[in-house]
Amino acid sequence: MEPTSGWTIEHGPGRYRTGDRLFFYTLFYFALAASIEVWWLNTPAGSVTTPADAMIAAGRITGMVGGFVLLVQVLVMSRAAWLEAWVGAHELLIWHRALGGAVVVVVLAHAALIAVGYAAAEHTSLASETWTMLTTYRDMVSAFVATAILVAIGVLAIRAVRRRIRYELWYYVHLASYLVLLLGYGHQFTDGADLQSPFARWYWFSLYAFVLVCLVWGRVVEPLWLNLRHRFRVLDVVAEGADMISIYVGGRRLDRLDAQAGQYFRWRFLTRGAWWQAHPFSLSAAPNADWLRITVKVVGDHTGDLRHLARGVRVFAEGPSGAFTAGHRLRHGALLIAGGSGIAPVRALLDDLPADTVLLFRARHPDELTFRAELDALAAERGIKVWYVLGARDDPGPRQAFTPKGLRQLVPDVRRRDVYMCGPAGLVSTSRRALRRLRVPGRQIHLDPFEF
Ligand SMILES: Cc1cc2nc3c(=O)[nH]c(=O)nc-3n(C[C@H](O)[C@H](O)[C@H](O)COP(=O)(O)OP(=O)(O)OC[C@H]3O[C@@H](n4cnc5c(N)ncnc54)[C@H](O)[C@@H]3O)c2cc1C
Repeated sequence: MEPTSGWTIEHGPGRYRTGDRLFFYTLFYFALAASIEVWWLNTPAGSVTTPADAMIAAGRITGMVGGFVLLVQVLVMSRAAWLEAWVGAHELLIWHRALGGAVVVVVLAHAALIAVGYAAAEHTSLASETWTMLTTYRDMVSAFVATAILVAIGVLAIRAVRRRIRYELWYYVHLASYLVLLLGYGHQFTDGADLQSPFARWYWFSLYAFVLVCLVWGRVVEPLWLNLRHRFRVLDVVAEGADMISIYVGGRRLDRLDAQAGQYFRWRFLTRGAWWQAHPFSLSAAPNADWLRITVKVVGDHTGDLRHLARGVRVFAEGPSGAFTAGHRLRHGALLIAGGSGIAPVRALLDDLPADTVLLFRARHPDELTFRAELDALAAERGIKVWYVLGARDDPGPRQAFTPKGLRQLVPDVRRRDVYMCGPAGLVSTSRRALRRLRVPGRQIHLDPFEF
């Protein structure tokens, strides 16, 4: 399928910044400090005298910190376009992962410190104090349920556990974090001693309102607007080899779609069996006025069903997301390393990168070289250098290509290039190690890991 408009638009380096990290960090710590300040302002000097007082104070502080971090967690995953453009979608994911464990620990510490502190202050047993809290404090039962859900989410997010469960289970339990926010809300205002002053209430309510607006904006308003505007439909499904297909998606006013090669959307194909699930797939060609293309490796139920998509099926897309774009590079030159379905975003990036770009495409067998004809054409027409690195996983020949020596031989000026990698974990980690040894700065290395 050929686009009617031109499709080679080269983007210069540094068109985007990965967000002003320092400003985002400062804002985070400032708001965190303000949340603790609420406790400080509400605690008269000299009022913390006994160990029980100290535990209750620590419990109140961890309560404020836990509530704040939970809001940040929801904010960073709100998918609001302004936030992703400012900080970077990958950076937000890193924040979300880093804060995930912290929020569970802090909320559990809050519950434990408050219960133990009050039991010590009132000279009762921990069990009796916990029972009194649950049965007499307003909104305490819902707070208890919220904590249990939070712990369940935390446990399922542990890598070893997550690998063993279905993605859908992990996803829907994760969605319950909105319930945590809702169930915890009442408890914070009715039982939270620190949220009784007008300033504290106003501050906390503003934080909630801000996060809620971003959430509705990113998860509802923006996707609805995108789909009403473009009305995506399947144009065609084309086999790209034994287990790869390309899906061409058409729509209205695609020339106005603000997406870049290398970005991904979450695609919901509105057929009877698939409408309820949205899966992320990267664009495998730069967007043009006529179509978008995604290229999918069949790995499971959903990707298997996509082979049988009929033309004309309506599509609901969310995005674009991701910073794996030509505009995010720091240097003019680029080296691309791809393996398996990782060729999809890498193929798209070639449309936006300069002619001196080098591609290393790793595959076990020539049959696995998806887009070979397109890559050969790009090499012939634009002078892009394409190396097909073929051979079994333990074959020493191809392995040599991804050592420091091999990379330097193939791409002598590798340090003066940005490196984009997408492919199997082994290929990416080996190449990354080699690049580090070649002293390619970390900021010049871009990954599209195909997993959340
Ligand atoms: C940002 C991103 C971009 C991607 N781009 C591409 C691409 O261009 N081409 C391609 O072939 N693959 C891509 N993937 C991977 C692709 O999303 C999964 O292979 C696909 O969702 C598997 O679905 P399944 O039901 O067929 O397989 P399953 O057997 O159900 O899942 C296989 C694995 O895929 C992941 N997965 C499953 N469902 C989802 C979901 N709804 N959302 C996120 N991950 C899920 C899980 O890690 C799971 O273990 C991308 C993934 C991400 C995160």
